[in-house]
Amino acid sequence: MEPRVGFVGLGIMGQPMALNLVKAGFAVNCWNRTAARMEPVVQAGGLAAESPAHVAELSDITITMVRDSPDVEAVVLGRKGIIEGARAKAVLIDMSTISPQVTREIAARLKERDVQMLDAPVSGGDVGAREGTLSIMVGGEQEVFERCRPVFEALGKTITYCGPTGAGQTVKLCNQVVCGLNILAMSEGLLFGAKAGVDLRVMHQAISAGAASSWMLTNLAPKVLDRDFAPGFMVDLQQKDLKLALEAARECSATLPGTALVHQLFAALQAHGEGQEGTQALVKALERLAKVEVKA
Ligand code: NAP
Repeated sequence: MEPRVGFVGLGIMGQPMALNLVKAGFAVNCWNRTAARMEPVVQAGGLAAESPAHVAELSDITITMVRDSPDVEAVVLGRKGIIEGARAKAVLIDMSTISPQVTREIAARLKERDVQMLDAPVSGGDVGAREGTLSIMVGGEQEVFERCRPVFEALGKTITYCGPTGAGQTVKLCNQVVCGLNILAMSEGLLFGAKAGVDLRVMHQAISAGAASSWMLTNLAPKVLDRDFAPGFMVDLQQKDLKLALEAARECSATLPGTALVHQLFAALQAHGEGQEGTQALVKALERLAKVEVKA
């Protein structure tokens, strides 16, 4: 029998993910703090629950997709939280990007009630969430992961088992470190070209196919040249993730000087009220230092 799946947190990512589960034929129970956001899932055939605890009562597997570590703690361990409703042998899958350490603490609390937890953060953005093509990085017991595989397959394309509890979050933070530095590399190349006076579209075309190529150079550099700073991924969310990465790195004595620099440059954008812009806006922090505008 198909497991009944609960979904808590129907934001930019969570709502299309819950809809994909309904589409895949799962019986979906959902809850969202702002009730109106449950409406599209209910219209598609899902059921609106009264609280995270109620979602867990109705479900074999409950997914959380909220924002940060304290938010996952609130919906799992807080009043009317998932822990109050979950039955023995149920599974919680947290797909938010949060702290690996907090993940291990929540998993330990759930284990006392015989509830299993997987951390399964994603990359691929709102487009991946809508199209069911997310990349999913999973930590926890492998046997539990295998049991939940059909749920992951309804949400993503690349599904990777990364290791014990917290490993999924750690891998996701590694992803964010590499992305952050690639955004800086892309921005610095463009800034140098602009200041030196070369044709930036020609430069972009020339270096995109070679050793400098990256997702950021392919997808974000053209936006910078068009002065399009609308968010694919927002500066504020990237900052949340880099802060998590720097904290986790400190806990294991890893030195991440490049990440610290990128975190500070994004902080300068936030100070200018640009936290809701896309991460390609990093170029603006460099532009202010070099007194130049990067455009085609
Ligand atoms: P979002 O649109 O801001 O949605 C956040 C959701 O969490 C909303 O449903 C919100 O409820 C709920 N929420 C937040 N704090 C809560 C609390 N304390 N109690 C109860 N509900 C709470 O964020 P998102 O873009 O979907 O991101 C969700 C997670 O996915 C984040 O961890 C993010 O880093 C990660 N992620 C995002 C992307 C992306 O491109 N957006 C890509 C990969 C990973 P309300 O509706 O009431 O506000």
